[in-house]
Amino acid sequence: MSFLERRVTRLRAAFSRSLRLRVLTLTLALFVGVALPAFGAFVWIVDTTSGRLSTLFAERQVLYDRYRGLGPLAREVALAETLARSPTIRDWALDEEHAAKKARGLDALEHFRTAFADRSYFLVIAGSGHYYFGDGNAGTDPNRPRYVVSREVPSDDWFYKTLALGGGCRLNVNNDRALAVTKVWINCVVEQKGQPIAVIGTGLDLSAFVADVVNTGQKGVETLFVDGSGAIQAIADRGKIDFASLTKEEAERNTVFQLVDKAEHRGLLASMMADLRAGRTDAATAVLDMGGRPMLVGVGHLDSLGWFNVSVMDVDAIVGRGLFAPLGALLASAIIVAALLITVFFKHSVLDRIAQTEGALRRIEEGKYGQPLASHDDDEIGRLTTALDRMARAVHENTERLEDTVRQRTDELERLAFLDSMTGIANRRGFTATFDMEIAAAREVGETVGLLLLDVDLFKSINDSRGHMAGDEVILEVARRIRDVVEERDHCARWGGDEFMVLVRGDAGDLMRAGRRLLDALRGSGIRLSDGTEIRVTTSIGGYLASADDTLSTATARADVALYEAKHAGRNRIMVHSPGQTPQTDVKVA
Ligand code: GH3
Ligand code: MG
Repeated sequence: MSFLERRVTRLRAAFSRSLRLRVLTLTLALFVGVALPAFGAFVWIVDTTSGRLSTLFAERQVLYDRYRGLGPLAREVALAETLARSPTIRDWALDEEHAAKKARGLDALEHFRTAFADRSYFLVIAGSGHYYFGDGNAGTDPNRPRYVVSREVPSDDWFYKTLALGGGCRLNVNNDRALAVTKVWINCVVEQKGQPIAVIGTGLDLSAFVADVVNTGQKGVETLFVDGSGAIQAIADRGKIDFASLTKEEAERNTVFQLVDKAEHRGLLASMMADLRAGRTDAATAVLDMGGRPMLVGVGHLDSLGWFNVSVMDVDAIVGRGLFAPLGALLASAIIVAALLITVFFKHSVLDRIAQTEGALRRIEEGKYGQPLASHDDDEIGRLTTALDRMARAVHENTERLEDTVRQRTDELERLAFLDSMTGIANRRGFTATFDMEIAAAREVGETVGLLLLDVDLFKSINDSRGHMAGDEVILEVARRIRDVVEERDHCARWGGDEFMVLVRGDAGDLMRAGRRLLDALRGSGIRLSDGTEIRVTTSIGGYLASADDTLSTATARADVALYEAKHAGRNRIMVHSPGQTPQTDVKVA
């Protein structure tokens, strides 16, 4: 048997022996059974609630970002668009070197410059490629073009691309080579009868825009602005901005799609943007994996600019699951307290009472009936305990009765063991017990004790001539007569066969007198047998007055010697020995 099997066997044995263990295991199993689904439900509620809250939050956030993003940009775009449609500018662009037209054009530009947030404007005239720029600085002369754009210079691509796109305004985030600033450029095309003749507009300092709009300062929310192709135009991390998106191939752009991990999520984001562009919704939200984590992404459309505002939200940071922790802790503690209460209640109302009853029964098993199996409750265990108590009492009473009977029988048997079954007087064992007691009692009061050993004379011949039954009848009558003669304080016993022993308290004289009375009682009259005949018997007696050193065996041996002498001297007489005296005899023939 392997170690594991032994452990399992031991555990199973413990399990089958202990109700407590089974109940605790069951409670634990129930606890787990309740706690696990409860935990699952709790997590589901937390997830659903935080999901709903986050989606709501995301939609608000998107609309808010859209509003904040649109505000400063739309105003600039509207101004730039008005400027582009101005006839003054168109006239100047068509005839650049005409002094009056130029003066009027520059006036209009200066007028708008003060209205633009950036306090700057630019104008590039397609015919000459002249780039005019005004920012109100005293050191710059607005009358003279700053430089000449050229198709040869890659950084001037934006101009030709914008021109090619035709009427309207477009946004482009770019580093200005000449001015060394990063701006959102609002480029509006000036047209003459459908032909682009110049690009005019203003810039908006991107760092100011980012600081105002993108850096929301909201924990767990990142706002970015992308153009129609998804190219990132404004984001807190400047390294992710896709500069000069206008002039780049789509594959070269830094797009919001690159921030999304999965192709299917990129597709989802694209379809959200398509929905927004088509005006099917104001704000679209979805959970997309970004940077290895699921993020709630909300998208809004800045329709007048062709941009989208994207809010990327970390749901955990916004609707922290920690908020639900106290609720979870409350739920968990409620379940634990319930399990504990059930266990304590069960222990108190069932297990402890069973253990008490078991202990009481064990004490009863050991024979300690003292404590009753008290139960004051009238429930199942109470009734069981009361029934067990009744049973224990019945067993106790029965046991006591049986013990009493056994004691009585034993006493009876003991008593019988000391009596001669035929004659009913003491037997040798009974006499032995009496002798020890009597001799001790006599010594205490300074008295002496003597023994008389009686033997029926020629008894064998009675057996031989009259039969054993007659012999028995003679022994019975001899015993009866001895008992009649013996004084109350003296004792008699059948010593065996036709021999009897009599204990006499007193001196040698008392012994002799008692012997004589016995002799006379036995020989005085014939014994009537059951067949109607009569038979006469005599006895011989050996007496001995015991000394202080004598034991029963030394005393009986001396009495036996005296009896032998009485027999030898001719029977039907008494011979008494006493220490220090010559033996006395008394013959009295009837
Ligand atoms: P003695 O005078 O020398 O005593 O002669 P005796 O014949 O009496 O000899 P003894 O005392 O030795 O013999 C006793 C006889 O008693 C022997 C035995 O068979 C007989 N006996 C002993 N117990 C009983 C009894 O219970 N009933 C009968 N009927 N006979 C008994
Ligand atoms: Mg005899």
